Amino acid sequence: MTSPTRRVCVLGSTGSVGTNTLDVLARHPERYEVFALSAMSRVDDLLAQCLQHKPRFAAMPDATKAAELRAKLREAGSRTEVLAGAESLSEIAAHPDVDMVMAAIVGAAGLAPCLAAARAGKRLLLANKEALVVGGALFMQAVEEGGATLLPIDSEHSAIFQCLPEDRSAWPHRIDHIVLTASGGPFRQRDPKTLADVTPDQACAHPNWVMGRKISVDSATMMNKALEVIEARWLFGLAPEQIKVLIHPQSIVHSMVVCRDMSVLAQLGTPDMRVPIAYGLSFPERIESGAGRLDLLKTPPLSFEEADAIRFPGLHLSWQALRSAEGSTAVLNAANEEAVAAFLDRRLRFDQIYRVNAQSLEQLLPEAGDCASVDGLLNLDARARRYAQELIASLA
Ligand code: NAD
Ligand code: MG
Repeated sequence: MTSPTRRVCVLGSTGSVGTNTLDVLARHPERYEVFALSAMSRVDDLLAQCLQHKPRFAAMPDATKAAELRAKLREAGSRTEVLAGAESLSEIAAHPDVDMVMAAIVGAAGLAPCLAAARAGKRLLLANKEALVVGGALFMQAVEEGGATLLPIDSEHSAIFQCLPEDRSAWPHRIDHIVLTASGGPFRQRDPKTLADVTPDQACAHPNWVMGRKISVDSATMMNKALEVIEARWLFGLAPEQIKVLIHPQSIVHSMVVCRDMSVLAQLGTPDMRVPIAYGLSFPERIESGAGRLDLLKTPPLSFEEADAIRFPGLHLSWQALRSAEGSTAVLNAANEEAVAAFLDRRLRFDQIYRVNAQSLEQLLPEAGDCASVDGLLNLDARARRYAQELIASLA
């Protein structure tokens, strides 16, 4: 018996995770149908994706760009319907005909559509870690109440997930702690005293992964790992002290679970996002992903080292935020999004990203009720962004 085709909505389809997702989906047309796509600004990229994958819907938050896409699609004879406005992302994510949503938007902007997908009970493939870092308990509650299936796409969290049994109720008894691996990014061996001078292009030149610019800068500061610590806390229901980080420059061991009996389970593979994406799509089965074979005989020796707190001061802000008032992780995320945008814009030095993040976390305190609703969280996010923007302006 053939299984029914799954209809997939890809949020952020023109990005790095989005295009990798479409690559995997295109390998399995009998299993998956591309139902809806969305992008922020690249009209021509989204146009090309619509012509290739023929989704029923394409959504763009910006009305002018949506109109441009609509006109170009019509001219090309496409039947894809274009939706406009920020709400259109939630609309396609919660559409009754959608089975799975790939959340591949970058930043807190993905929170509302993620919650919409969760409340509508979808299989939610989460790459958009910032949404979970901001949403925290409210996000997990939406998943539970909506009867959604939340599956990690971040390679480290997919690795942990692959090392755990399907029955989630067994996780607390099984896990002593987890070890998230980190490549250390492009500045792992650079003299920390010279980090004030690095350019956006240097920060985005990741040694092992090709990714969007925001996450690339986060990898260079290790704020990406800080966000992943917070992400792991929610995905696996762990206490902050059960999450550890090790630098592993080869990015072959994608993360590890240390069990109660001290058995250590790890997931290995070449660094290719199509592996966790394919697993999220096909779980609990496995499908061909397009990734290359791991040849351990040709792989450089696998090594591990401690993250240097002087070179990577931002990493520890994750545990600090998790132990602070609820909502602190949303503050940290908002400050970091603003600081990274300012750095990419050359309004802030690389080493000042930490200063903005640490000071925002310490000074901007969440208020009671901020975390009780999406509006409360978005309000907190906006306050933290304003605080960080003022700080960035004062540092210029
Ligand atoms: P990217 O910048 O390459 O793509 C982002 C996508 O989101 C684009 O399609 C863009 O149009 C859309 N987008 C951006 N801002 C938006 C907004 N305000 N509203 C609606 N859409 C918006 O980013 P990426 O590298 O693909 O990363 C996406 C997410 O996945 C991030 O949260 C990142 O941390 C996570 N992630 C990425 C990788 C990777 O290999 N790239 C790995 C693990 C996790
Ligand atoms: Mg990751």
